[in-house]
Amino acid sequence: MSGTLWVSDTRQTGPMKRVALLGATGSIGRQTIEIVEAHPGLELCAAASGSSSLDDIDAPLKQVGGDLTELLERAQPDVVLNAVVGFAGIHATLWALEHGVDLALANKESLVAAGDLALAAQERGGGGILPVDSEHSALYQCLQGTSPDQVASLVLTGSGGPFRGRTRDELTSVAPEEALAHPTWSMGPKITVDSSTLANKGLELIEAHFLFGLPYAQIEVVIQPTSIVHSLVRFRDGAALAHVGYPDMRVPISYALTFPERAPTPVPPLDFTSLTLQFEAPDVETFPMLRLAREAGERGGTAPCVFNAANEVAVAAFLEGRLPFLAIADVVAEALARTEDAHARDLDDLLEADRSARALADERLAVA
Ligand code: NAD
Ligand code: MG
Repeated sequence: MSGTLWVSDTRQTGPMKRVALLGATGSIGRQTIEIVEAHPGLELCAAASGSSSLDDIDAPLKQVGGDLTELLERAQPDVVLNAVVGFAGIHATLWALEHGVDLALANKESLVAAGDLALAAQERGGGGILPVDSEHSALYQCLQGTSPDQVASLVLTGSGGPFRGRTRDELTSVAPEEALAHPTWSMGPKITVDSSTLANKGLELIEAHFLFGLPYAQIEVVIQPTSIVHSLVRFRDGAALAHVGYPDMRVPISYALTFPERAPTPVPPLDFTSLTLQFEAPDVETFPMLRLAREAGERGGTAPCVFNAANEVAVAAFLEGRLPFLAIADVVAEALARTEDAHARDLDDLLEADRSARALADERLAVA
């Protein structure tokens, strides 16, 4: 197609893009391999997991456990797709940004915990961040060709998780299997539990703040139970742009790896005649994690890191049957309340904030 509105894409015919895939055996990792294999311009140059075998993955460099930055040094990738779960992804995120290597970011916990450090590393190194999280990919796409002063607010959507509409009384004794039954997305266990507490939307709120540089007052959250609207941007003229599609992570993964190209994916076109779109406000009384995340984000400094660390400990305990569902938020609230405001000047400060928040959460678990 030609015409002045269409930007021609020079990268399509460019050299092979070499992808280092971290968290290759997980939910995002597997879907990334599918996208890479289907695209002639993409190849895996390295794959890593935490402990699971990489035997069935075809990549020249592979690493199970160990230091991810050593693997990245050897691989010298064009893009790092960070799909590690949790704070463990932090070194890889900072490595990519510091070395001017593009970062396709699924590992939201690293940006939440280390937002200020990550932005400083990006400033020095020049690595670009391409969001893989579906909401942030949606926002990124809606924001193309605009500038921050034209944006009134970002609107993150969420499904509300499997417990949407329930009261606190109805949540006192929910089992891990119930929290793991997500209504619209199939994902790894940690993010699925985070979706059931709304901690995931809380992490995404902080992620959006660092990715797009807007204050928290300009980032809203709305529930859209079928996960068809992936997020919206409201502009100052009263217009709102939404990104819609079936909930399928292959779309944002493909976009992050092939931007500015839009490569074909196997995702079916939306059938608009079968859709009804409902929106509702999130219930922050029943699900306090979203409110706690907003407060931690507003506090800034190491508070988002503390929120994340305490949540990781609490979610692991809930999955092991050692902590009731509603106590996840209590553990996080207490860790935040017992932590003084502090800046993370360097990675050591941040590692210490993470360690002490985990210790506070463990103390709380011992008496729970
Ligand atoms: P998952 O549990 O399915 O997979 C996690 C992967 O990380 C595994 O390959 C595991 O081996 C690896 N890993 C864990 N610790 C590691 C370590 N120390 N070093 C190297 N690798 C390690 O998780 P997931 O659902 O694929 O989620 C991954 C990340 O993507 C999370 O941050 C999550 O919030 C984010 N995300 C996931 C989805 C989704 O649909 N699954 C959507 C949006 C964002
Ligand atoms: Mg998301």
